[in-house]
Amino acid sequence: MTLKGCIGLEIHIALKTKTKLFCSCPLDAKSEANSNVCPVCLGHPGVLPSLNNEAVKQGLRIVTALEMQVPEELRFDRKHYIYPDLSKNFQTSQFYFTLGRGGSLGFKHQGKAYSISLREAHLEEDAAKLIHQDDESMVDYNRGGTPLLELVTEPVLHSGLEAELVLRNLRLLLRRIEASEANMELAQMRCDANVSVSEDGQPTGTRVEIKNLNSPRFVKQAIEYEIGRQRELLARGGKVVQETRLWNENRGITQAMRSKESAHDYRYLPEPDLPVVALPPELISAIGSSLPELPEARIARYLREYSLSYEAAWRLLDEPAAEKFFLACVEILPEPELIYSWLTNQVAELLKEKNTELYESCLSPAKLVEIIRLKQDGAITSSNAKLLLKLVLETAEEVPVLLQNHKLILISDESRIRSWIAQALEKNNSALEAYIAGKRAVFGFLKGETLRRSGGQADPARVDLLLGQALAEKEESR
Ligand SMILES: [Zn+2]
Repeated sequence: MTLKGCIGLEIHIALKTKTKLFCSCPLDAKSEANSNVCPVCLGHPGVLPSLNNEAVKQGLRIVTALEMQVPEELRFDRKHYIYPDLSKNFQTSQFYFTLGRGGSLGFKHQGKAYSISLREAHLEEDAAKLIHQDDESMVDYNRGGTPLLELVTEPVLHSGLEAELVLRNLRLLLRRIEASEANMELAQMRCDANVSVSEDGQPTGTRVEIKNLNSPRFVKQAIEYEIGRQRELLARGGKVVQETRLWNENRGITQAMRSKESAHDYRYLPEPDLPVVALPPELISAIGSSLPELPEARIARYLREYSLSYEAAWRLLDEPAAEKFFLACVEILPEPELIYSWLTNQVAELLKEKNTELYESCLSPAKLVEIIRLKQDGAITSSNAKLLLKLVLETAEEVPVLLQNHKLILISDESRIRSWIAQALEKNNSALEAYIAGKRAVFGFLKGETLRRSGGQADPARVDLLLGQALAEKEESR
């Protein structure tokens, strides 16, 4: 029988604050290494930490948005370990009383609704960053002391895909409530996955921790690989060892790193240097009511108001610039599906071609609507609409000017089209004769000659009609 995968995630979220968790050193990823440090975040003896209230507030925003239970008091604990990335030899974290417990993350994927149970969330300081180069190792303490919220899910996930979806939807939520930039490539969100396999209904097997996964895609790949590895190992009569493994993205495999510590190895102790902070219910409810509309609610509203699909609404939320642009367009032209289609097809294609972003281009909501309307009214062809869009993306010129300068507008004026037809027939007498003699296929050629004389601006449908009439008249006059 196939063994079922069982996965729990530990997600480290860097909170959006100006300064570190226990000192006033600024948080700036672009600073020179070891420039944003002080005796507190370097762990010098005799210094006292002071709590950053903004970090607590951001942490509370997240746990409240995830409907976790918040304790009445905020307390910290020391987690002891020794490693070059932690100069004070303990990390100030939370163990006995965590900032949040329970709660869930809800989302849908391909019509299926998920509600992922959460275990707990705790505030802690980040360790410094180790940089290994050739045979040298360096440490940058700028990152040490960054406020983190570590969110732990219950081991309720069964596949790499589910884990990837958790990260994508959590990121959507974090960005929406502006509690974290949650950019995994910049390590603002990092994920460890605990993976085991077991028979359906049986207790979970020995778990392996895959550390420091830095993109939703790698999380999926690493988990899928690890489930496969454990299944194969057990099928051969082997045993899964409790250990920490790393994902090697170049080889597409997980590799053993070290045996896994248990909680008692860290000898957690209540932090004596920080006072206990009361978290009264009024504070929690005030934070709850200060939250913006959360992704699930907003998606539901977009489905209702704009008849978008869940995936379409999700994609809009995932790109706030596109969402803002979409909403501005819908204000002017209340045709959401049409606008969404333009944004995700024609506009997205051109932006990709030019390797640029919507906000960097010269396209404004008003201009896009202008182009959509011209196309809708039949004033320009599809290909000219695309050309016009391309021009608008590149230049700040107004749409009517571009239409005129590039002769993009369709001409449906009958007398002008008739005169181009007359010219085309006069210059192509042999084709006209062939047509009258019954060779109907030359119609296309004569149409092309007419359009060429109009500089491609004559309305093709109108040309069809009027050229047909002109040819019939010529035949009758014989
Ligand atoms: Zn500092």
